[in-house]
Amino acid sequence: MFSRILIANRGEIALRIIRAARELGAQTICVYSTADRGAPWLEQADETICIGGGPSTESYLRIDRIISAAEVANVDAIHPGYGFLSENAHFAEVCRDCRIEFIGPSPEAMALLGDKISCKRLAKATGTPVFPGSDGAIEEEEEAITVAREIGYPVIVKASAGGGGRGMRIVHNEPALRSALQSARQEAARAFGNGAVYIEKFLERARHVEIQLLGDRHGNAVHLFERDCTSQRRHQKLIEEAPAPGVDRARVDAVARSAAELLRRSSYAGAATCEFLMDEAGGFHMLEVNTRVQVEHPVTELVTGIDIVKWSIRIAAGEALDFEQGDVRIRGHAIECRINAEDPDRGFIPSAGLIEVCDLPGGPGVRVDSHARAGYRIPPTYDSMIGKLIVHGSTRAEAIERMFGALGEFRIGPIRTTIPLYRRLLRSRPFVDATHDIHYVERLLRDEGG
Ligand code: ADP
Repeated sequence: MFSRILIANRGEIALRIIRAARELGAQTICVYSTADRGAPWLEQADETICIGGGPSTESYLRIDRIISAAEVANVDAIHPGYGFLSENAHFAEVCRDCRIEFIGPSPEAMALLGDKISCKRLAKATGTPVFPGSDGAIEEEEEAITVAREIGYPVIVKASAGGGGRGMRIVHNEPALRSALQSARQEAARAFGNGAVYIEKFLERARHVEIQLLGDRHGNAVHLFERDCTSQRRHQKLIEEAPAPGVDRARVDAVARSAAELLRRSSYAGAATCEFLMDEAGGFHMLEVNTRVQVEHPVTELVTGIDIVKWSIRIAAGEALDFEQGDVRIRGHAIECRINAEDPDRGFIPSAGLIEVCDLPGGPGVRVDSHARAGYRIPPTYDSMIGKLIVHGSTRAEAIERMFGALGEFRIGPIRTTIPLYRRLLRSRPFVDATHDIHYVERLLRDEGG
């Protein structure tokens, strides 16, 4: 096991990694920006190092400064968390060159699965269900037209190197496809330095279901079943749950096994998530693979009893998974709500500033992963998520009631949060009946005039 781990992240995930490292007997070194000086999670680290200014381009994205801090602090490993440099294969490579263990996959495995076209190609070979669409990058416009005729409109044009919802175009007819191809290529080249685009069938109504995976350096790969992240706004997940309600268990299990095979075939070591859209007939289509720990990992931890963050560290330290696929079982139901400092009544504008009141919920089956507390001033510089409330119940109905109650106990102010929106969602028929789709939250907000 490592003795010293540098955490190249901030907020709740930095705290989550500190807790995991501590239990494994490793010391933690947190790097931070001037905007995060005095922030609560830093008190929990063994050492802290300021690496630059507030904007992440001056600190949390600065590979040179993070590596310098790692060398000064003499660490064995770096945990990137999620966001920032977590999916940057170049960073993983620099760590390797500097003989510092990157807690995540090898740069090669990251690049293979992080590129949507190469990932889709491998997925097809391992029987992981993908969207109908082009086989690789679109070279000729006519090729796209032929594929679109075959699969039927609407289709979506996507960038192979895309991320964060950028570079996507939904088109309903041939002329629109022709112009979308051009503009998507240009945007992708500008934004990602890679202009390769491909097309696939666009699903109007779908649920988001994803598979949690773990692979080690000894050739083992397992899945920890699925999460449902259908409740989203502008492609941002708001509520996640495990297991996915109302799905065909045999079908999900088969998809999960194929995703584990995809991981094995790419010699992937670490935590990963294979994301899918599920169509109205229950068919799965792979969106992408995320090569890191995800925000919503706790729901899987609660239903499987497996600590994903601790395993991410143990795997990087060379340990082999000490359980097999057959040992992984789902117990009960877990739900997570992302607590964002945003004002749902004013178009979700960020609500940064001083937290004066912060009363956390508690009781059986309630977990709070958050760095927020009274007296903490949320900087306007970063993501608005200030924590996650996660509950575990024996059934989905119990988990919904538990979450509803815990959200009611959670008092945080005077900043505004997404808590009231979640209380409404948990009481809405489509959510309770699990007949919602990825655009349901937006419809609910529109109907309420929100
Ligand atoms: P990114 O890496 O930019 O987040 P994804 O491929 O994960 O891109 O897609 C982001 C979101 O766009 C999905 O969560 C989904 O809501 C929507 N989307 C992507 N592909 C499709 C599709 N083929 N049909 C319907 N919606 C899609």
